Amino acid sequence: MTVRKPMIFCDFDGTITNSDNIIAIMKKFAPEEWDEIKNKVLSQEISIKEGVGRMFALLPSERKEDISEYIINHAKIRDGFKEFVTFTKEEGIPLYIVSGGIDFFVEPLLQGLVEEGNIYCNGSDFSGGKINILWPYSCDEKCDNDCGCCKPSIIRKLADSNSHKIVIGDSITDLEAAKLADQVIARNFLIKKCEEHAIVYSPFETFYDVMEILKKREVIA
Ligand code: MG
Ligand code: ZN
Repeated sequence: MTVRKPMIFCDFDGTITNSDNIIAIMKKFAPEEWDEIKNKVLSQEISIKEGVGRMFALLPSERKEDISEYIINHAKIRDGFKEFVTFTKEEGIPLYIVSGGIDFFVEPLLQGLVEEGNIYCNGSDFSGGKINILWPYSCDEKCDNDCGCCKPSIIRKLADSNSHKIVIGDSITDLEAAKLADQVIARNFLIKKCEEHAIVYSPFETFYDVMEILKKREVIA
């Protein structure tokens, strides 16, 4: 019997951070139309890519500094994340951050915690009048979900049949990844979505909970 190699794919917004940074940016800086776009994403009426692109296109590029500063000062990293990163290193479990967030806040918030090479997120272009989101990790030919940052495509690229794929997330943007996972660790809206789709999951609130969940599996293996 071969022991499958664990590999973690962890969401950023609302998972590593306590709340969703895109929502926080929009609440603070966007005109009210953003809220309707967000609701259409949550109800799956429009794709995540379309929704995120349209929300950021409401914001003037010249507010870049204000937005970055606001989010870097206000975002809170969830309890136990630092210890969790140390745990994955000690256990030799690769940890990839797969995020529908944007580079200008994801990378600074993870600085000193996760190496940039392990971070997959969307890009940004502030050269026009409004913020333009770039999509370096678009969907592969197997995904027609128009994800923006396509978590299933990244998983297909990094994992193989020998991998035990662990997905950690909190929302609709993790659903497609959760469908592909061997193990799902979920909070918030992703719990509801897992239940709707009959996906088995373990609930978590802090990364101390995540470590406990992962340690249990080791004992069984
Ligand atoms: Mg999230
Ligand atoms: Zn996709």
